Amino acid sequence: MATPFSLHPEPEPGLETLALHAGSAPDPTTGAILVPVYQTTTYVQEAVGRDKGYTYSRSGNPTVAALERRLAALEGVEHGTCYSTGLAATTVLALALLEAGDRVVVSDVVYGGTLRLFRQVLGRFGVESEFVDTADLAALGEALRRPARLLFLETPANPTLKLTDLAGAARLGHAAGALVAVDNTLLSPALQQPFALGADVVLHSTTKFIDGHNATVGGALLVREAALHEKLLWHRNATGTIQSPWNAWLTLQGVKTLPLRMERHGRNALRVAEHLAAHPRVERLVYPGLPSFPQYELARRQQRSGGGLLAFEVEGGTEAGIRVMNALRLCALAENLGAAETLVTHPASMTHAAVPRAERQRTGISDGLVRLSVGLEDPADVIADLDRALEGVGR
Ligand code: PLP
Repeated sequence: MATPFSLHPEPEPGLETLALHAGSAPDPTTGAILVPVYQTTTYVQEAVGRDKGYTYSRSGNPTVAALERRLAALEGVEHGTCYSTGLAATTVLALALLEAGDRVVVSDVVYGGTLRLFRQVLGRFGVESEFVDTADLAALGEALRRPARLLFLETPANPTLKLTDLAGAARLGHAAGALVAVDNTLLSPALQQPFALGADVVLHSTTKFIDGHNATVGGALLVREAALHEKLLWHRNATGTIQSPWNAWLTLQGVKTLPLRMERHGRNALRVAEHLAAHPRVERLVYPGLPSFPQYELARRQQRSGGGLLAFEVEGGTEAGIRVMNALRLCALAENLGAAETLVTHPASMTHAAVPRAERQRTGISDGLVRLSVGLEDPADVIADLDRALEGVGR
């Protein structure tokens, strides 16, 4: 049995309290305990040049602002902006920081859409992106010998769960003059706090654990510095990428239980991982919460648990892996992660289809790799579903 990770120091007030109360107060006119959905395009001004802080819902909206305050508090910083999707957040970060001729260093394993954005979209506008194994600090140091404006890290990386030592990578990034952004989507602030380890920007696809209910798509950027926050606000308005008030309201409800859910996702995933690691039909299983994980010590140092995701390969290769995914009943075959429902994904044909096959192979995203986002069901039922599907392989 793996031992549970020790708790890192918690912010004050505690994460559970912040998840419920940060950034919102009872509605001053009615006492409504929930922030209302301010479903409005515009805001009537008292006089020319005199408004109440809001002018048009592309530039800002009170419901979205409440979510921004909540997420900033959870990550332990002052400023937040929310976006229509996680990729919209990445896009605005890039547009706010980069110009033609700039260079970006990106983790070699990232969500497939992130790689596509940096390479196939920003590349057309003269931004050079180099994808580097950021788990290898020597390789990262080498890549940062040439000037880089931005270091973009994803840890754990989707879908191989490879980790980057955030404190070490941030030190190297800063020494090279780069701004350090961390995609914290796979763990959320409940399990990993990148600002305490040196990050300048934290990015989220709120679509995942932060919403947690498969109900919305959304993104967020949290920052320490007011000047950078202003730049992001300006670019969000200029690109029209703000989150909708309804999605922000739903996400405000989801995030209330984030610390509770993350604790349970981690516990359930550990149980499923231990079971699969011992299963005769499973050839390779990766889960950062298991002592067999190559970067287990780093996981213990920088995360509060192994998280809710695991990945594995089935004996018999790609065909067998696909047969298992097709045979699952309780675990839903779908492109998302971080939801209450257990989701199984085939990265090669779904989330990472935009990554060229040779690159996928080189970075460990084999054609048979199965990604499992362990949900909040009774883990015994998830295990029974997996056992039944694995039993059918080879027949
Ligand atoms: N970052 C990570 C780690 C993701 O897994 C994803 C989506 O899967 C994104 C960013 C992009 O988020 P969205 O799908 O909300 O645009």
